[in-house]
Amino acid sequence: MDAKLHKPTIELLSKSGVYFVVDLRWVGGSRSITIEARDLEKYVSDPVGFTAQHFGASVEDYLRWIETEGTPQCGALTKKGKRCTLSVAGGGQRDFKRWKELDGGYCQVHGGETSAEANEKRRSH
Ligand SMILES: [Zn+2]
Repeated sequence: MDAKLHKPTIELLSKSGVYFVVDLRWVGGSRSITIEARDLEKYVSDPVGFTAQHFGASVEDYLRWIETEGTPQCGALTKKGKRCTLSVAGGGQRDFKRWKELDGGYCQVHGGETSAEANEKRRSH
C-alpha cells in the first residue's frame, strides 16, 4: 500500500495524548501494541514487515510461526528430500523466541524427545 499520511494531523493527535494501537497477528489470535506516531507510516505501508521487525524476526520466520500456531517442526529431511514438519515434542503455542529455538529440532521419528520426556523437562525448569 502506498501510504501518505497527513503528518500534521498525526502530530496534533499525538500531542493531544492520542495513542496509536495496532492489533498484531499472534499465535492464538492477536496482540495489541502501542506504536509511536513516527512509526505509523512505516506500519501502514508494510504491516507484516513492521510486525516481524517488532519481534526481531525475519518476515519468513514470523509467518511460519503464525501458520504453525507456534508449533516447532522437525527439520529432518524425508526420503523424498522434503522437510519432515512433524511436531517437535512439547506442544504448540510457543512464544516466538522459544519457537525459533526449537524449530528445526527433531520429532520422535527422527530421534527427538518423546512428549513425556519433553514434559518432564518443562516441569523441572
Ligand atoms: Zn521428523
